[in-house]
Amino acid sequence: MDVPLGESFRLYAKMPGTSFQEVNIAMALESTQQINEHTQAVQLIFRKQKAFAPGLRSSTAEERLARLKKLRDAVLENQVAMCEAAYADFNKTPAEVEFAEIFAVLSQVNHAIAHLRKWMKPERVPVVRSLLGTRSHIRYEPKGTSLIISPWNYPFTLSFGPLVSALAAGNTAIIKPSEMTPNMSGVIRRIMETTFAPEEVAVVEGGMEASTALLQLPFDHIFFTGSPAVGRIVMAAAARNLTSVTLELGGKSPTIVDRTANIKKAARNLVWSKFINNGQTCISPDHVYVHADVMDDFCAAVQARVQHSYGQTIQAQAANPDYCRIVNQKHYARLSNLLDETVKGGAELVFGGETSAADRFIAPTLLRNVHNDSAIMQEEIFGPIMPVMAFTDPQRVLAEINARPKPLALYIFSGDKKFIKQIIDNTSAGGTCINTSLVHFLQENLPFGGVNDSGIGKAHGVYGFKAFSNERAVVQDRFSMGHLLFPPYTPRVRKLIKVAMRYLT
Ligand code: NAD
Repeated sequence: MDVPLGESFRLYAKMPGTSFQEVNIAMALESTQQINEHTQAVQLIFRKQKAFAPGLRSSTAEERLARLKKLRDAVLENQVAMCEAAYADFNKTPAEVEFAEIFAVLSQVNHAIAHLRKWMKPERVPVVRSLLGTRSHIRYEPKGTSLIISPWNYPFTLSFGPLVSALAAGNTAIIKPSEMTPNMSGVIRRIMETTFAPEEVAVVEGGMEASTALLQLPFDHIFFTGSPAVGRIVMAAAARNLTSVTLELGGKSPTIVDRTANIKKAARNLVWSKFINNGQTCISPDHVYVHADVMDDFCAAVQARVQHSYGQTIQAQAANPDYCRIVNQKHYARLSNLLDETVKGGAELVFGGETSAADRFIAPTLLRNVHNDSAIMQEEIFGPIMPVMAFTDPQRVLAEINARPKPLALYIFSGDKKFIKQIIDNTSAGGTCINTSLVHFLQENLPFGGVNDSGIGKAHGVYGFKAFSNERAVVQDRFSMGHLLFPPYTPRVRKLIKVAMRYLT
């Protein structure tokens, strides 16, 4: 059966359940019967890419650069379509599409274009004493056919970003964007269909049933961005084919505001990073520990900054086109419940808290006196609610952070070098910003990713290139004397082995 590759496989899954995990389990059960429908179609695309990929092993830098430039041109040409689709999906404001999606993708692609020749060069490594007379290098060869599964919150950045790395490393790619933002997924498909041949890059739209059909196939690498719950499913599926994975996951990223911090600056930065995309950002500052001495000042500064950024009143905030919405009713219900339960549990509502189901609006909200065991501290918030907790003893903060899974990001606002060192030395996180937040995503020279629950493997720049490359070890003999140790193991050979053990190890 030959299915036109332009056809999409749109089957939007219903989403029962309330927590991230319940949503995923229920979707898995509902979609099993749809998996077979997708299997044949995705197998066809996969086979085409499998046949094409070996030819890319010897691709030159010029050929890969040409693909990257085509991708860059396509992004530049489709900016308006991308902004319109994002607004249609969840009122994502054009300013945030431009900055957090188009700008982010262009930075990644331009960085790759600038450095690709260097990345592709075989890397000479020094000879070791035991192999005197040889020389060695690492050759970065394409892994082959890759699968990129992306989430809905920044669909362009999180589909095109990994694609930049896949193309730079000489791979083919099938992209499976999220079914939750169908307008943006449609634009991604149209961009790829008009830019690349399907054996190079193809897009399979659809939900879990499309993912599941794809995950049955023996890809050479899977790059997944999404929740830790689905990350586990992806890794288990990859294990069946011994496919390597990069998992870019999420979780609760803590922020600490010390009493030595510049409070106004901290508030200005955290209001931006918390409420951008309506809090639906993987490296959003999930919850904030604030030193008790500066708690009042911090809350007042956050309130002033929210009013400055989004409007003085709830009505103004709701009418502000730059304040986007929760992606769907399921996540709206999850967040409203979380808010209600946390307030019922004793948290103080400093401002915000208004919700409107009709347009999935949740006002920018600040909760104070939140306890470590309150509802909102049990899962990644992923919405415009900022819980703050007072501290005086940093050891308590460290104990609470270390009792949770290792976060994707950890932010520190402080003017005290010793305090900053104490926090960094005694925690683990995928990335950390000091006196700022989120921006490590844009630092192409740093690896981006999590640790354990928040992710496996790294993305961006040369780290993304390596994720899609096999580091092939090559040793070339020139005038080594290793053959003197070959059998038969006469007394003379044994003596030489002993000499080698003594002097060449
Ligand atoms: P999700 O895990 O629900 O979905 C991600 C992708 O997986 C989607 O394409 C979806 O269709 C697919 N999927 C869903 N269920 C599946 C299943 N059972 N089997 C196979 N595939 C399945 O995540 P989401 O709701 O789209 O995004 C939010 C999560 O992603 C948050 O946890 C957030 O922190 C995380 N995230 C991480 C990063 C990062 O860079 N580390 C970036 C953005 C989002």
